[in-house]
Parts: sequence; C-alpha cells; structure tokens
Amino acid sequence: MTDVLIIGSGGAGLVAAISAKESGASVKVVGKSFPTRSQTSMAQGGINAVMANVKEDSVRAHIADTMKSAQGLADESSVKRLCEEAIASIEWLDRIGLPFSRTKEGKIAQRQLGGASSIRACYAQDYTGLKILHTLYDQACKMGIEFINEYFLLNLIIEDESVSGATFLDIKTGEIKQLEAKSVIIATGGYSRIYNSFSTNSTSATGDGLAVALRAGAKLSDLEFVQFHPTGLKNSSILISESARGAGGHLLNAQKQRFTDELAPRDILARAIEEEIQKGGEVYLDIRHLGEAFIDKELPQERKLAIAYEGVDPVVDIIPIKPVAHYTMGGIDVNEDTMSCINGLFVAGESANNKIHGANRLGGNSLLELVVFGRHAGERAATYSKSSSTICRNTQQFQDDTQALKKIKNYTSEQNFYAKKEYLGSAFYTKAGIKRNEEDLSSLLAEVQEIKKNLSLMGPSDKTKIYNTNLTEFLEFSNVLEISEVLLVGALARKESRGAHFREDMPNKDDENFKAHTLISKNKGSLCVEFTN
Ligand SMILES: Cc1cc2nc3c(=O)[nH]c(=O)nc-3n(C[C@H](O)[C@H](O)[C@H](O)COP(=O)(O)OP(=O)(O)OC[C@H]3O[C@@H](n4cnc5c(N)ncnc54)[C@H](O)[C@@H]3O)c2cc1C
Repeated sequence: MTDVLIIGSGGAGLVAAISAKESGASVKVVGKSFPTRSQTSMAQGGINAVMANVKEDSVRAHIADTMKSAQGLADESSVKRLCEEAIASIEWLDRIGLPFSRTKEGKIAQRQLGGASSIRACYAQDYTGLKILHTLYDQACKMGIEFINEYFLLNLIIEDESVSGATFLDIKTGEIKQLEAKSVIIATGGYSRIYNSFSTNSTSATGDGLAVALRAGAKLSDLEFVQFHPTGLKNSSILISESARGAGGHLLNAQKQRFTDELAPRDILARAIEEEIQKGGEVYLDIRHLGEAFIDKELPQERKLAIAYEGVDPVVDIIPIKPVAHYTMGGIDVNEDTMSCINGLFVAGESANNKIHGANRLGGNSLLELVVFGRHAGERAATYSKSSSTICRNTQQFQDDTQALKKIKNYTSEQNFYAKKEYLGSAFYTKAGIKRNEEDLSSLLAEVQEIKKNLSLMGPSDKTKIYNTNLTEFLEFSNVLEISEVLLVGALARKESRGAHFREDMPNKDDENFKAHTLISKNKGSLCVEFTN
C-alpha cells in the first residue's frame, strides 16, 4: 500500500512528492494529463522572496504587503511561514537546477509586481512557471518517483472518517481503477475555468479536487474570492503578465491616457479597467517605450502571445486588454498542517485554502505557496502515513463509481453540455465577476441548479471506452456545476465587499460580521454555510 498518494502533477503535486519521498515515504503521483502540461507551466511573472538582490527589502515588508492585500482574511502565522521560508525555497530551487534570470553580478534577478513595496519577484525570463515545473519534474524522475498519467480522479475512498485511497477513470482504457494509500494529497489546482473562455487558466482548472473533497465530507472555504487579472488579451483572455507593468508598462483608456496606478493590487485595477470599458471604451496596455531589446530579453513570451493571439506587436502597437478570471483564492479548507477535516487527506497548491491570500492574492505568492506549503504537505503526509494503520477494505466506492459511469453512458445527449458550459462561463463573467449583486447572483444560482437537474439530458454522445475525452469533459462539467453552486452560495452569504468580492449592492467592508472565512460543507445533499475565524 502506498504511503502517500498525490493527485495532481503540477508544481504543488511535484514539490509535495519530492518532499514526501525525502521524508522516507513511498510515493505515487497521479494526474489527468502529463506533469509537464500542468497549468503551473503557464506562470510567467515570478516567485516572491526577499532576496534583496536589486533593491532593499525585508521579510517584514513581504508579510505586511501580503496581509494588506488579503484585507483581513489571512492568517498571520501562515503568512509569516510563507514569507520567512521564501528565501530557503528559492535557494532550494536554484540548487536543483532552476535556470533563474541573473543580474550583472550573477545574483538571481528580481522584478516588481503589483501590490509589492519592493522589487521582490525572482524570475526566469517570463517562463518562470514552465522552468519551475520542468526542473521539479526532472528532480522527481531522478528520485525514482512513480507517475501514473491520464488517470482522472473520480472519488476518495473514506473509511472510519479517514481517507484510504481514491478511484480513477483510466482515460487510456476507460477502466475504473482503485489506488490504496495511507494518506492522500490533493493538488488538482483551482476552479477559474467556471468562467470558461473568460479566464487565463488552462482548460484543466475545473475544480475537480474540490468537488471530490466536498462529496467525501471535506469543507470548502472562501470560494467567492476569485481574482480577476487586469491584463488578459481582449479577444482570447490569454494573460499578459504583470511583469509588463512591473517593468513600467502603462494602462491607457480610450483617449489613450493613463487613468490609474498600474501597480495597484489586482482587485482595484480590475475594477478601474472594468469602469473604463463600461463607459464604452477600450483599454490598452502600452509597453512600447520599454524598447525592443528589453522586451525581447525580459518579456519574450508576452510579445509572442500578443502577436499570435491579438495580432499586435507590443514593440510598435498598444495591446487591447480586459480583466479576466485568473486565480481562485478559495479552496479545500485545511489546518496549519495542510490537512483537511478528513484524517489523512492533505491539500497543496491552488486547491488548498492555506489562509495566506485572503480576499486578494499578491502576484508571485502562488508559486511561493506551491513550494513552501507543498513541502509541508509532503512532510506531514509522510509522517501521518508512518503512524497510520489504515488498510483499505472498502470496495463499495469502486462499485458505486463503476455503476455511476455506466449510468452516465446511458444519459441522452438531447442537450449539449458544451453549449451550457460556454453559456455559464459568460453568465458568470457578467453576473458573478468583477462586480456582483444579490439579484444577479440569485438568478445565476437558480440557473446552475436547473442545469444540474437536467444533467441526464446532456450526457456524452461518445459511448466508446478508449480515450473518451467527451466523457472526461462531461465529468469536468459536472464538477464545475458543483463548485459553481458553492461559489454562488458563498457570494450570496457574504453581504459585504472585500477584495476581489465586490457587491455593488453592499459596497462597504463589514468587519463586524464578515471578517471571517466562509465555510461550506454538504449535508444530505444540501450545502451548509457558516463563517469562522
Ligand atoms: C497564465 C498564468 C500565469 C500565472 N503567473 C503566475 C506568476 O507569475 N506567479 C505566481 O505566483 N503565480 C502565477 N500564476 C498562478 C500559479 O501558476 C498557479 O496558482 C499554480 O501554478 C497552481 O499550481 P498547482 O500545482 O496548484 O495546480 P496546477 O498546475 O493547475 O496542477 C494541477 C494538476 O492537477 C491535475 N488534475 C486536475 N484535476 C484532476 C483530476 N480530476 N484527476 C487527476 N488529476 C487532476 C492536473 O492535470 C495538473 O497536473 C499564474 C497562473 C496563470 C494561469
């Protein structure tokens, strides 16, 4: 029986795997795609740490910036851990071979990102996430860590309130598989793809791990906090990194004039841009004054993306942009040991709520979370598994999932779930996006519940077994619906505005009633909401 089963092979899953293996545990990493295709590869701007290689900085300032941006919803001791362990995390990445960009003196290069009081984000050109992911994967392979790719997580196996494994759909063969383990780490990423094409995220960010954990009895917290990145490309939503503004890029309105502080936190900027767009105008990012040599050296990917997906060359053109869903602050609720309320179930990365981002994440702190809290999750899971006497006797989940899959294959496809997914993405963008109100949120919740009710009319039309992507996309859509409902219930319950959650009908912060985390669980099929500190 495996000691630590890790579900998700992005940055968080790989860090947790390396750390669990270093702690002496046997480790398996399972993913629905291949490790090097995980969304972490898309991260561009950088990873925060007070190296002070370019400008004076302090850990105290990093903590203060993170707390300020979180708007009262971060846990100070967790933030302290994040910031205090940042330098050692960068040194570790450097040691295992991450090709960071360098200063003239050979130190790790750093750049400024929004909301940071100093120049703090370490980077590798604008391919930081890609290089982190590949370095971690190389390291995991060198350590002999076992990978099982193209397995889609279906459910957790729970016995006596403890996790003892999980069930999967083997995408290659269409078979249901059961993997047994003494502890499980969910590292399946976030849920920004609820906003479908109005998101910078990879198509895999469908909140699968969150939906699975909720069904198994875990609690989800703060799902209403969704970060909108100010600079998605207007037509494709592809991200133009904050590093472009950090380097001195300007935001221009329809009159081609600057209208805001480009390095303000993302929630404030997203609202400022949305207001300009609502006035009927276009908004642009202008980096022409940085010059071709600088752009090609420091922002080569941004130039390529703008040319390929927007048809503009940032060296000579201004870039049309709009804010889009980018990062989900909410996740599976965990304690300071990264464990959920289910014994032996740990969580890492964007699928966790470690209470460090609160109402608004700072750019560069997510990659840092993967490393700092991913390492803790790996160590804690390894320790837990040593003292666990769990033996998986439960084959009921396997049988239930086999039956459930057969049932789904018998669903009709008289309604098209792809069309519903597209419709919902756009409805979420307008009704549960940068600005929200009670009426819009309630009507959207009713729509989500109606679609859920009719799911058996929108089944996959492909009934084959091998590589049935129509089936896996349907399973992702079912998870999106479950998580959408939790997001909306949370957004309705939070009757105030805070950070990324902006209620037009309640525009003020209400510390007396809502300086607390929204905690949502499922009881006999119904969602229960409470607020906790
Ligand atoms: C365009 C872009 C740029 C960004 N830039 C930065 C930046 O500069 N700095 C920063 O700090 N942050 C940045 N972020 C955020 C950061 O990259 C992510 O938060 C982080 O990479 C998430 O890592 P993760 O390991 O938690 O999840 P992911 O990398 O998303 O990995 C999730 C893994 O889970 C697997 N999985 C999902 N569902 C299932 C399932 N049902 N069954 C089995 N496996 C499953 C996936 O296949 C994948 O392997 C950026 C994000 C984007 C989208």
